[in-house]
Parts: sequence; structure tokens; C-alpha cells
Amino acid sequence: MSDFHRLLQRQIRRHLPDGIEKGPLRPFLEAVHQAYIQFDEDRALLERSLELSSDELSARYKELNRHTQAVERTRRHLEQSLSLLHATLDATCDGILVIDNDQRIVIYNQTFLEMFGLDRQSLKHRNARRLYAKLAAQMRHPDEFERYWQLTRKAPEGAHECLVELRDGRYIDCYSQPRWHQGRIQGRVWSLSDISELKKSEQEARFHSYNDALTELPNRSAFTERLNHALSKSQHDRTELAVIFLDLDGFKYINDTLGIEYGDELLRLAARRISSQIPRHVTVARYGGDEFILMMEGLSNSFDALLLAERLRNTLQQPFRLAEQDVHLTTSIGIALYPTDGKSAETLMRKADMAMYDAKSKGRNNCQFYADELEKLSAHRMQIRHNIRRALKENEFELFYQPKVDLESGQATSVEALIRWRKPGGGWISPAEFIPAAEEYGLIVDIGEWVLEEACRQIHAWEGTPLENLSVAVNISAQHFRKAHLVEHIRERLERYMVPAHQLEIEITESAIMSDLDTTTQILNQLREMGVTTAIDDFGTGYSSLNYLKCLPIDTLKIDKSFIDDLLTDSRNLTLVEAIINIAHTFGIKVVAEGVETLDTVCMLSSYSCDVAQGYYYSRPVPAGELPALVTGQPCPVPNTSPI
Ligand code: C2E
Ligand code: CA
Ligand code: CA
Repeated sequence: MSDFHRLLQRQIRRHLPDGIEKGPLRPFLEAVHQAYIQFDEDRALLERSLELSSDELSARYKELNRHTQAVERTRRHLEQSLSLLHATLDATCDGILVIDNDQRIVIYNQTFLEMFGLDRQSLKHRNARRLYAKLAAQMRHPDEFERYWQLTRKAPEGAHECLVELRDGRYIDCYSQPRWHQGRIQGRVWSLSDISELKKSEQEARFHSYNDALTELPNRSAFTERLNHALSKSQHDRTELAVIFLDLDGFKYINDTLGIEYGDELLRLAARRISSQIPRHVTVARYGGDEFILMMEGLSNSFDALLLAERLRNTLQQPFRLAEQDVHLTTSIGIALYPTDGKSAETLMRKADMAMYDAKSKGRNNCQFYADELEKLSAHRMQIRHNIRRALKENEFELFYQPKVDLESGQATSVEALIRWRKPGGGWISPAEFIPAAEEYGLIVDIGEWVLEEACRQIHAWEGTPLENLSVAVNISAQHFRKAHLVEHIRERLERYMVPAHQLEIEITESAIMSDLDTTTQILNQLREMGVTTAIDDFGTGYSSLNYLKCLPIDTLKIDKSFIDDLLTDSRNLTLVEAIINIAHTFGIKVVAEGVETLDTVCMLSSYSCDVAQGYYYSRPVPAGELPALVTGQPCPVPNTSPI
């Protein structure tokens, strides 16, 4: 019984008169009582059930809350993953397209749209078939693409790849593979890469491996391949063939004076001219540098080859318009014949080259057939090359020194170092003989470095003697001057032998200076900063632009011997020399006259304020040991006799 129930019974007993409860009202009271009891129980039940369900409700609510949060978290994750997926897809360089089994477009990226010039609107239908038609319309070979598309449907389990070319010239590499989910194929993923650049560089690489980049003519290896092929054909058909080797005379000079860019342009123009002159059965290639090589098949007689060679020589003789001026070229040509001169490509090319050298040695601008004696000549050149190498190793070179005399004081304040080659058996070889060969064989830099070292060593050795203040001029060839490490090399040698920089002078020719004015200025400035002085050698024989005198940091100008030789007899030379001296002085440049052989010339030069004279009148170049007597003796020493 509940508390409420007991309370109710007590109230009824207290308020009802005695006995009533046993009277007729009893059943009623009993009923009320029962009703109260029932009510009480119901209420308690209700209360309990209400209490229970609110607990449950709050538990459920909490659970629901947890669920909602979890769902929210998952939704956020999904959203992030989706945006990551889109960002990733859009960031790839490949076009991506995903299609389901019902041929509906599932997803694609921006690159895909751009690759085919599509927009999102146009793919709203999500119909892969309609998309396919749009793609096929852009293909150069739609039938190939159709086959590929069908293959992906016929063999859905495989990965497939194909290369398609678009009408606009692009190449697209298509790769597609099935998309699996829970062991079943859901559709296909396509990945499309634009490999046009790769294709282009592949094609270019193929072109460049067979063609010369500058002239676009076939290159040496392509020519050799074709020649080999033509030789087997000639052998089979019993026909003759000519290999024609062509070298532009004086190209190097033009390249040096006008600069590499114009040199390149000249080669392009020459290549075009040659190509325009040759008949169909002739192949032309660039052999290298300023050399071209041709092959003439099905020769009826050797005269045909000569005729073609002469025609080419003539056409190349016509002036070329370069740097707003007419540039003249001549050509030396050599011809070797199959089968008379050789049967292999290598032999024929070598013999045509020898014949070309023969043409050069016969005064250039002519054409020569190969002759057996040339083999001996070529061997001689090889010998020289070998010998120069040996001479460097075995110390067969020596420096002679020729004084340069100050015309005011009559004293020799400097000397020019001139190289000599001591023959193993005795006697000397003049530099005029081996310097050009050394330049041709690329040995001139080694020689130049040897000269620099030896000159510095000599200056150092004069320390403490009457010659200790003498400065030495060293000849540096154009090739060496352009070498990147020249300045560093000089600095290093000066330091090694503790030679004051002002005691070293560099003599360079005009052609070395003119090849690339920017680099030249840079090198000359570096030399000046270091304290090394520079002289222009053989002035008047080369480009002779007085213009550069005012902008280049040059200290001395050496007027070429050819002007000095007939100074007294040719009034034009006199005028020229006078003008050169005056202009040079205006720019603060000292003038040296080369090859001075007579007292009259000395007097004449002196009267025109020439600063320094050098020549046999004072002394021939002499070994270092003979210098003290010359330099420290009386002013204007008498001519000396020496080996050269
Ligand atoms: P170069 O630099 O113009 O040298 C002057 C040449 O003229 C020297 O010839 C010299 O002996 C010669 N000579 C000097 N005075 C007279 C004269 O009064 N009359 C005559 N007839 N000749 C005179 P060398 O020593 O035979 O040198 C010839 C060329 O060889 C030089 O011309 C120079 O270009 C080159 N050479 C000499 N030594 C070297 C060197 O160490 N390195 C480089 N790269 N070239 C050198
Ligand atoms: Ca010189
Ligand atoms: Ca000279």
C-alpha cells in the first residue's frame, strides 16, 4: 500500500461519523477508496512510466546526437575528400575521364575539358557516347580511335593504350583501365596525356641526329650512311661515283673579323647557294666548320664532277651580302673518284679531303683531283702535328728576344719574345712554318701557354741583373685570346714567378680583337686592371677600323712591316703611317714601327713622332743570353747576326 493510500484511509476514518463506514455508504466508500487506490496506482505507474520514458528519451536523444555528429563528421570528411579529389584531378597534367558501365560520365577534370576545348555545360548530359562523337571529330584518324574505343568495350578487363593524333597536330596518349569495386567492374578510367612536346623533340632529335642544325643540310654521319648505300649500289650497277670536298677559303678570317653570328649566316647562305646549284642525283652535306661534302652518283665520266665543282666555285665567288657589306669568298675543292681512288666511304672522303688541301696549297680558289702523291703530303702534315706535340714535351722550343727601341732615348726598354724550334738534328725552324700548322691542329694554345710561362720565368731570372726592368711582349694567337682561362692563366704565371704585371705585354692581331667585341673588351679590361699592357700587332693588314681604338683599352699599336718597308719610296704609305701615329696619339696609344731595317727609316719615323722602333736595324731576335750585350750597350746597337 502506498503512503498516499494509507493517508486516504486515515482521512476517511477521521472525517466520517462512527458507524457510517459500516452503513449503506460502505460500498460507495469502498468504491471511492478503490477508485483512489486505483488512481494512486495508475498515477504512480504513469509517473514511473513517464520517468522511464524521459530517461530513455534522453538516452536516445544522446545517442541520436552522437549519430548526428558522426554523420556530420563523415559528411565533412566526404566533402574534403571530394574537394581533394577534384583539386587533385584538376592539378594533374593529364586529362581524366571516368565512365560507368552504362556509358555515363562519372567524373572528369579541367585538363580533359581544356584538352578537347569542351566546357562543363556541354557535358551536362553525362552521355559518354555523345562525348565520344565529339572527341572523334577532332581526331586525324577517327577510325583508329573507334577501334580503340571498341577494344575497351570488348575487353573490359584489360588496360589499353593508344596514341592519337589530333587534327591540330597535337598527339594525345590515351590510357584506359577498368575501375573495380568489390570484385566487379564498375566502368573505366581514362587518362589522356598531351605528348606533343615530347613527340616534337623526338622528331627534332631524329632530324638533328641526321641534319646539321645551322644549315639544315644532312650532317657528316648522314652523309656517310648515304655514301655507303650509294657505293653498294654503284658496285652493283657498275657505275662511277665522285666525292667532292669543298672548303671555303678565308672563312675563318670573316668569322674572326665580323663575328660568329655573321660567320654562321655566311655558312647558311653558302649552303643555300650550293643546294640551289646541284642536280637531283647529287647529295650535299655539311662536313663540319666551313667544309661541305658532295656525292655525285651515276657518273658518266670524271669531267662531270669537275664541271659541277667549277660551277659551285663560281657561284660561291659571287659576293655575299653580310653586315651591310659585300663579302667575298673563294673555295678550294678536292675530288676523289670511285672506284679509281678508293672503294670505301672512309677512303673516298679522306682522299677528297687531301685533294682539297692540295687545292689550298696551290693558291686556293681552285679544284684538284686526288693524286697518289697527296697521300705523302698528308703524312707530312700528320708528322708536323706529331712533332709539335713532341717538341712541347721534350722542350725543343726556345724564346728569342728582339729589342724595341725608344726613339727618343735610343734605349731598348722592352723586347718581343719570338718562338723558335730547335731541330733535334741541329738548326732552327721558323715560327712562320709551324705556327699556322699549330693553329690548324689546335695546338696553338699549348704553345701560347708554354711561351707565357717561359717569358715569365725569364723575367724572373733577370731579377738583380741590368735587364731587370725590361718588359717582355708575348704573341697570343686569336684562338688563344678567346680561351676562357687566358686571363687567369696569365695571373697565375705572374704570381708564380713574382713578375710585376707591367713587365708583361700581350700582342694580339686585329682579327683576334674583332671577333667578338664584347668579350674582347672584357678581356682587355681584365688585363688592364691586372696591370698587363696590350698591343695590336700587324696593324694595317686586317680590319683596320680606327674606330675601335677609341673604345678598347689598348696601350700600343704596332704598324705592320709592310707599311714600314716602303715608307721612303711610297708617299701614300708615309701619309698613312703619319695618320695612324696621329690618331693613335689622340687616343693616348703608343706607336711601334715593326720591321725597321734602315737608319733612314728610323729618322723618318722619329720625325713623325713614332714612339718605338723594332727591326733588324737594331737587332734580329736573339737568344736570351745575347740580350745583355745588346740592351745595356750603347744606344742604337749595331745589327746582330743570329740564326734567324
Ligand atoms: P710578328 O709577331 O709580326 O713578329 C715579327 C716578325 O718579324 C718576327 O718573325 C721577326 O723576326 C720579324 N722581323 C722583325 N724585324 C724584322 C725586320 O727588320 N725585317 C724582317 N724581314 N723581319 C723582321 P718571326 O720571329 O719569324 O715570327 C713570325 C711570326 O710568327 C710572328 O710575327 C708571329 O705572328 C708568329 N710568332 C712568333 N712567335 C710567336 C709566339 O710565341 N706565339 C705566337 N702565337 N706567334 C708567334
Ligand atoms: Ca708580334
Ligand atoms: Ca707583327
